[in-house]
Amino acid sequence: MIKTIISIGLWAIFGWICASWLGSNAGWGLFAFGLSCMILVSGWQLSRIQAWIKNINDPPPPSIGPWDDILAPIYRQLRKNQQEITALNRHVDGIMLAAEALPDGAITLDESMLLTWCNQTASEHIGLDLHVDRNHSIFNILRAPEFARYARQNSWPVPLLMHLNKDGQEKALLVQLTRYGLGQFLVVTRDVTQVEKLETTRKDFVANVSHELRTPLTVLSGFLETLHDMPEGSLSGEQRQRYQAMMLEQAQRMQAIVADLLTLSTLESSPNAEGEPVRMSALIHTALQQGRVLSGDQHVFVENVADDLCVNGIETELASAVSNLLTNAIRYTPKDGTITVSWYITESGQACYSVQDTGIGIASQDIPRLTERFYRVDRGRSRATGGTGLGLAITKHVAMRHNAELTIHSRFGAGSLFSLIFPPSRVSQTD
Ligand code: ADP
Repeated sequence: MIKTIISIGLWAIFGWICASWLGSNAGWGLFAFGLSCMILVSGWQLSRIQAWIKNINDPPPPSIGPWDDILAPIYRQLRKNQQEITALNRHVDGIMLAAEALPDGAITLDESMLLTWCNQTASEHIGLDLHVDRNHSIFNILRAPEFARYARQNSWPVPLLMHLNKDGQEKALLVQLTRYGLGQFLVVTRDVTQVEKLETTRKDFVANVSHELRTPLTVLSGFLETLHDMPEGSLSGEQRQRYQAMMLEQAQRMQAIVADLLTLSTLESSPNAEGEPVRMSALIHTALQQGRVLSGDQHVFVENVADDLCVNGIETELASAVSNLLTNAIRYTPKDGTITVSWYITESGQACYSVQDTGIGIASQDIPRLTERFYRVDRGRSRATGGTGLGLAITKHVAMRHNAELTIHSRFGAGSLFSLIFPPSRVSQTD
């Protein structure tokens, strides 16, 4: 403003000087010319300012006279605001990224329980699509009646366990609702399917172990009670011997179950088996010798065993896997059946131990469950032949610890082929 007044004053002085020399008309003319120049310059400056406003993020144009003093502080404030907005955006982005990275699902709802935002995990848990479902009621999205009941409570001290069916798969979700801000809601979802499965497996396992041990224990205590209640000398030597043999059989059964359970727990708790090169042919020949005794010459054995192949691993574990597959073949193959034991290297460098039998075979629906603990196709037959129902579970663990694969091919009534396939990295050949 002062600059403008000074400029007008200067033009007035020039006009007055000019008037004193060339007369008043010339003086007024010069003054008018000066004012016109000032108006033109102002107009030009305004048009530059107008052009700058379109790109307000750039610095204001230089030398724009009196506007310099106005635009410089505006621009400084603008820059400051912009920096604050950028910092704020970065902060919000960081929070959003953190929310996206949460292992739990997070959903925000407004006061009317309409969806405002959700992270990727929540989308996967509930099958949400933020673009489609935004501003839709959570009750239309999560249509389970138990959720509606839960959400309508006044407070949510404990989460709700829900079972959803997504793409044909049952999913267990823990859903926790909380109030935040000015009446908005936060829904946190956690996938507990695996936890629930583990818990079921643990419960089943305890029930199975108890069941498996209860039968021999009942038989054993029954015999002991009978012996205890009988008057002295009322039992012949032969009867006593028979009772003792039966009790011994039950005790051995329990011993076998406990031994297998201990083996399984050792396998589960120890790290992957590195070990030393183990000459598998020696283990296979020992297992075959014991197998022949178990068979009592009732089966035909065919051997096809490479002598020089070694597997890097733990000898006792490998011996147990080799013998488990062979004993099973003997136990589940009727008299005169053929059992073929092979140990060879494949073209791709894998080493394969396989036991093929012409036995009772296994129906296709049972095959995937054979390596579950205590799973037996025919409980009676397994027990009658001294099985614990844990042999294949142990074999599978041994395989996993040696990076090997246990494959099962079988047809009901037409025999089975069990193979342990070791990767080339575990295989070596001796001279
Ligand atoms: P078990 O002690 O009962 O033999 P396993 O874990 O070794 O326990 O085997 C589980 C089940 O798999 C057996 O009960 C049996 O039904 C089936 N099975 C295993 N091997 C064979 C085989 N060679 N032929 C037929 N069935 C088999």
